[in-house]
Amino acid sequence: MDHHLRRSTLSDRLSSLEVDAFLVTSLTNVRYMTGFAGSNGQALVAGDESVFFTDGRYTEQAGHEVPDLERVTYSDALASALAEQVSRLGVRRVGFEADHLSVRSYERLSDALEGVDLVACDDEVGRIRWIKDDEELASLERAQTVTDQAFDDVLETLAVGVTEQQIARNLEALLRRDGADGLSFDPIVAFGENAAEPHHEPGHRMLEEGDVITMDFGALFGAYHADMTRTIAFGEPASELKKIHDIVRQAQQAGIDAVHEGATGAEVDAAARGVIEGAGYGDAFSHGLGHGVGLDIHEGPRLGREFTHVLPARAVVTVEPGIYVPGLGGVRIEDMVEVTADACRVLGNASRDLIEL
Ligand code: ZN
Ligand code: ZN
Repeated sequence: MDHHLRRSTLSDRLSSLEVDAFLVTSLTNVRYMTGFAGSNGQALVAGDESVFFTDGRYTEQAGHEVPDLERVTYSDALASALAEQVSRLGVRRVGFEADHLSVRSYERLSDALEGVDLVACDDEVGRIRWIKDDEELASLERAQTVTDQAFDDVLETLAVGVTEQQIARNLEALLRRDGADGLSFDPIVAFGENAAEPHHEPGHRMLEEGDVITMDFGALFGAYHADMTRTIAFGEPASELKKIHDIVRQAQQAGIDAVHEGATGAEVDAAARGVIEGAGYGDAFSHGLGHGVGLDIHEGPRLGREFTHVLPARAVVTVEPGIYVPGLGGVRIEDMVEVTADACRVLGNASRDLIEL
């Protein structure tokens, strides 16, 4: 991973942001910019004069994870250490991540940095993270491979009487067994009518003949998150659910077909949503079509009605339409895709047809 290149990309933005340096405080963004994987670190990005900050617990770790940056260890708070560096570098205007700095932290910095302007900025690093490099793509692909494997294997463990929680635990164990560093998030497992809740918390509901089963889960690999959903049937499901599955399957395909470099998040959402609306279930598709994935499980670029930004090549987004009918159940199908110049590439290989066990 070329952290230097990433910092150069941000440094190139400084003049248009009208700042001399950019303070990165989001831990995920710090990791992206420096390679630091600990729980407390900040980076002041200013071209070749960038500085990394942490506290005494991480001096040693930062030494090998952030070997290429000037490192400052502070004993109590960032503010005074930052003030020292800012004055050493002669920086007058410091951009900060308005999405990630608390009001209290802002006040502390503002008190310590006398005579320096703190400039609220958008999530500049998050925006750079939209475009994945080769190593990031490889990690996401590896995470998805493990996720596909766990999906195949968990099907063997479905039987009348097992509970949602048991299947969620099986998924966790299988993901780890197949090589995940951890879980992208706690698996969502919903049986029958519970599948009408998009983010159902697995409970003690027991599996019955004729239930649909929605599983939304993913492996974490090298800090990168996989995210996949399948809804399958245990025995013969209600005919409306079969019909709904068919609609969601077509909507997802329409969404996938609409993804390409230069398409907007709203256009891709509309392509999938149109299929669901056309089938009369528009109100039952109650969320956006998808989101970026990477170091965070939910990041940019988003796919949804309000997102007019354009998708760049090498962004990785989910395409996950769903239809949810209270009392009956629901269906969601989700895959991660890599945006390419004229289309996209689906990362996983699990079947999207209705599996009836
Ligand atoms: Zn998901
Ligand atoms: Zn998702």
